[in-house]
Amino acid sequence: SEDAPQAKALNYVKVAADAKGHPRWNEGEYCDNCMFWRPANNGCSLFPQNSVEPKGWCQSWVKAN
Ligand code: SF4
Repeated sequence: SEDAPQAKALNYVKVAADAKGHPRWNEGEYCDNCMFWRPANNGCSLFPQNSVEPKGWCQSWVKAN
């Protein structure tokens, strides 16, 4: 959830485009193409206690291999 402390710290948003204006955000970056995405449970390895939206984003986004 966007309210989780770690999510807030990383400026997580449920809809990637809502991060427009963030210096790290670029069009086409989503949780589901991030190296930290865990598709089995809509998870993020940086927020193991919470699920994230496939089309969400945060400032720790790194392109998946
Ligand atoms: Fe989404 Fe990646 Fe940020 Fe996790 S690290 S919330 S998968 S953008």
